[in-house]
Amino acid sequence: MKYLILLGVVFGVIWWIKLNRASSQDRASGTSAKPLNMVQCAHCGLHLPENEAIQSRQAVYCSDAHRALAEH
Ligand SMILES: [Zn+2]
Repeated sequence: MKYLILLGVVFGVIWWIKLNRASSQDRASGTSAKPLNMVQCAHCGLHLPENEAIQSRQAVYCSDAHRALAEH
């Protein structure tokens, strides 16, 4: 009976490690596929993710309003 409980615990730990490793690999591949590159608004100096920034020919801005203010 003692060994049966031990066996159950060992299998439980192995299953838990497998589950943990699978989820951490998902997280790692998710971050490497989409890196968060921070850029700075040329008008107000706000830092924001590149995918949310307004890209113009001269510089990067936090919003279309700031792009218009700086480049009209
Ligand atoms: Zn701005």
